Amino acid sequence: MRPRMARSVRPQPKVSVREGRIIGAEALVRWVSPDRGLVPPNEFIPIAEETGLISSIGEWVLESACRQAAAWVRKGLPPVRVAVNLSARQFYSPGFIDSVRRILAESEVRPGAIELELTESMMMQNVQHVADLLMELKLLGLHISVDDFGTGYSSLGYLKRLPLDALKIDRSFVRDVPGDQDDVAITSAVVALAHSLRLKVVAEGVETDEQLAFLRELGCDEIQGFLLSKPVPAEGFEALLRRDVRLGPVAARNAA
Ligand code: C2E
Ligand code: MG
Ligand code: MG
Repeated sequence: MRPRMARSVRPQPKVSVREGRIIGAEALVRWVSPDRGLVPPNEFIPIAEETGLISSIGEWVLESACRQAAAWVRKGLPPVRVAVNLSARQFYSPGFIDSVRRILAESEVRPGAIELELTESMMMQNVQHVADLLMELKLLGLHISVDDFGTGYSSLGYLKRLPLDALKIDRSFVRDVPGDQDDVAITSAVVALAHSLRLKVVAEGVETDEQLAFLRELGCDEIQGFLLSKPVPAEGFEALLRRDVRLGPVAARNAA
């Protein structure tokens, strides 16, 4: 029997820009290696995709996220939505929707508390098939967002045909705002596009108060990034929720 690969899921908070409080988390997987410690997903997900192991890893991440979200509700913590990344191979595998249905039922989580993140390139292959799959997931009550938006080759015509809830602006565009005029133009355009399609917009990789101020000015709905917190162990996330840690002036954050 193949030894089971030890993994852990680290939630990173997503924060409402308007209210400043944590409204969700992205569940980010790590491989716990006996000799290398925590190995980031970019180092093993591509291999897992190639070997087909990704479906079982992805299922495990979704199960962990659903169980965790249900446990936080039982503990009476403020409601949050937990996002899980999907890989192309997992999304297109024939048993995928059934496995989602089973995991939702077993964990007894409210489906509205779970979000799936798909990248643009995953969605742009066969739009009718993707629209059908996404519609099934929406009918189960899940939220759907487009990850790393702007780095693929989205057809805007496709975007309006898919039942989406949010676009996540890729970190590479957020990194140099408000200093870089090109990135300012791109982030502004994505926020305007998302809102005109009645989608929420989330900025990834927000690290500074200047970036936050710029994104707030644009009307960006949510942010995620080291400014509030790196991905943390589940207990660490729970502590942030309990303390009701909020975005705000740097001084207030440090005093908290
Ligand atoms: P992603 O979905 O775009 O996740 C965001 C990545 O940006 C995470 O890296 C997160 O730690 C990092 N990040 C967040 N805020 C900041 C910031 O302020 N500054 C900087 N420098 N980085 C920030 P991570 O955890 O290494 O994940 C990398 C990618 O691996 C993810 O990108 C996602 O595509 C993939 N991934 C993670 N977990 C899973 C999973 O369970 N399944 C699949 N298929 N892919 C996963
Ligand atoms: Mg993601
Ligand atoms: Mg991303």
